Amino acid sequence: MARRESHSHHPHHHQGTHTRFEDEQIEEATESSNLEDPMCDADESTIGQDKAIDDTMCEPGESDKDIARSFELDDSVIGSDKTSADYYFDSYSHFGIHEVSVPLWMLSFSITSVMHSFYNYMISVEMLKDVVRTKTYQNVIYKNKFLFKNKVVLDVGAGTGILSLFCAKAGAKHVYAVECSHMADMAKEIVEVNGFSDVITVMKGKVEEIVLPVAQVDIIISEWMGYFLLFENMLNTVLYARDKWLVNDGIVLPDKASLYLTAIEDAEYKEDKIEFWNSVYGFDMSCIKKQAMMEPLVDTVDQNQIVTNCQLLKTMDISKMAPGDASFTAPFKLVASRDDYIHALVAYFDVSFTKCHKLTGFSTGPRSRATHWKQTVLYLEDVLTICEGETVVGSMTVAQNKKNPRDVDIMIKYSFNGQRCQVSRTQYYKMR
Ligand code: SAH
Repeated sequence: MARRESHSHHPHHHQGTHTRFEDEQIEEATESSNLEDPMCDADESTIGQDKAIDDTMCEPGESDKDIARSFELDDSVIGSDKTSADYYFDSYSHFGIHEVSVPLWMLSFSITSVMHSFYNYMISVEMLKDVVRTKTYQNVIYKNKFLFKNKVVLDVGAGTGILSLFCAKAGAKHVYAVECSHMADMAKEIVEVNGFSDVITVMKGKVEEIVLPVAQVDIIISEWMGYFLLFENMLNTVLYARDKWLVNDGIVLPDKASLYLTAIEDAEYKEDKIEFWNSVYGFDMSCIKKQAMMEPLVDTVDQNQIVTNCQLLKTMDISKMAPGDASFTAPFKLVASRDDYIHALVAYFDVSFTKCHKLTGFSTGPRSRATHWKQTVLYLEDVLTICEGETVVGSMTVAQNKKNPRDVDIMIKYSFNGQRCQVSRTQYYKMR
């Protein structure tokens, strides 16, 4: 079985993937994104086929909303109810089970400003070097200048200002680049050095608190996606900006985001990450194993590990959705394409820009060129022995944590009635 390249929970500083991106940067990524690569089984892949990415692909079964309503995480089942904010003040209780290097939760606003700017710097590097990500935005903007001509743009979470610079170069009338971190100071300097001070106004502050000098904008652009699409994401900030400033026929870039699920064989890594705790230098540390099981692992999955089809769980229309739509329950049906074992489910997302001349976007799936989002691995309690054609059915519920909306609670129900193995179970996961 092919091995994954890296295994840190928070991959921003992992050398393994760095090398990979550097190799790939040599080749000029002229066409945007990684959509030329097959994203998943053709029948379930949406992007790159048709402009229409709609909910009909979701194979809805039971009423999503009913299940979502009944989904309340029970702390007696899943342990403590700490959020990432709590962990900041009680760092020992944050297990960081999966060999965390630098936890993203440190980016929470309670952190000291020195650390804040350091992490922002690190993360900016990682994001800018993510060629799939950055080049897709660049191509969307440069190849669709008609969208930007004489338009007022709002860049939500501008970071270094890179997206604002793209928009200015594409002919935008004015760009407001809003950034709450110290990176805003850098962005100001970058804008100036590159001669765009008259077109781009960098504003330091939270989108939710800033006073824009204009009442309306024509375009909102943002790179808001988190791990598992929704972990520590800025979606609510984008929706806030949309509702406050976007003109009636204005556009949001990107405007579609979809979450997918597949199943993998992962014996070696499950052994290393989970079963490891059964006997550590001869001692039973299986209480930590329980925590490790509940913490989704952000990691690169080799496509050869994939055992089933890829199921579309949910498509979100950023131009229309309500904040509550990011919490949902979606059914899944995973059909084995070969005889194998299943150790984990794997989630990933894609985003697309449907207002472009030619549908553009990128996928973070295991069959596409790697991005810094990697994939999200959710280990199963059971090892499923599955035969070709057999099916695992279930549902995934995704909910914002009530205490800290940047944390994500996940519930997976699955049942499998195979020739060699029968199992039915509910598992809970927390991303924090
Ligand atoms: N647009 C840049 C950076 C994207 S990362 C790029 O594509 O490279 C998201 C940025 O949003 C981070 O720099 C973060 O500090 C900023 N951010 C997060 N929440 C914000 C908010 N509520 N208001 C303003 N900026 C925010």
